[in-house]
Amino acid sequence: MIDLKKNRVKRRLPTQDVVMNKRVSPVIEQYLQTIYSLAFHSPLEKVKSVHLKERFGSSPSTVHATLSRMKRDGLITFEEHKQIMLTSVGKKMAEEITRRHRLVETFLYKTLGIPWHEVHLHASSWAHGISPLVEEKLTRFLGFPKSCPHGSPFPGLEQEFPPEDMFYLNEAAVGDRLQVIVIGEQLEEQIDTLELLNRKNLVPGSVHQIREKFYQGDTVSFQTSETQITLTLLIASQIGVRKIGTNS
Ligand SMILES: [Zn+2]
Repeated sequence: MIDLKKNRVKRRLPTQDVVMNKRVSPVIEQYLQTIYSLAFHSPLEKVKSVHLKERFGSSPSTVHATLSRMKRDGLITFEEHKQIMLTSVGKKMAEEITRRHRLVETFLYKTLGIPWHEVHLHASSWAHGISPLVEEKLTRFLGFPKSCPHGSPFPGLEQEFPPEDMFYLNEAAVGDRLQVIVIGEQLEEQIDTLELLNRKNLVPGSVHQIREKFYQGDTVSFQTSETQITLTLLIASQIGVRKIGTNS
């Protein structure tokens, strides 16, 4: 005889993993991820609501309302000069969100063959629905990746990042032979910029020899052994590189 009651209980068990009871809304996830990333990539700069407004193109009142909810829920605090800080709970959540996001990006890139410069936007909607079990299986499947296709480290591995010899492309000098380490996270949503970098092969891991460098207004142009590229100083200052030699 089939024990229906028992079966029902049994069937429910695997789904418990899918219940992501501590998950917040996708909007709050985006805010947590952005605050975390701003604080990580620009540790000397204070994160303020204006940065979120710029990032999301939202009105000041929308940003204010979201931040107030996050404060109420114990995810952030407001410090002196309106600086936004993640609480330990907020930071832990932001790390989890960031880890899932980078994992999905890696999966889309390595397994589905989606180009590195397109994975970010696809990953944003996917990552929200990843359950802990899928996250664990994906991590194993991908061989415990250390960084996403843009070169950003997985949370928990930041002690290895940035490497001591890393500096930013705007500081590169004529004669330098450089390897690209990371395309800063702030650039991930700038599709045109990422497409340009991809076209010019300025991608993580690529090597370039700087033959000429010149400034014009707020842009810097590089003539490398293969190509010529002009970037705003702001963009160039978010591309992490290391020197692997000098032209003699
Ligand atoms: Zn990434």
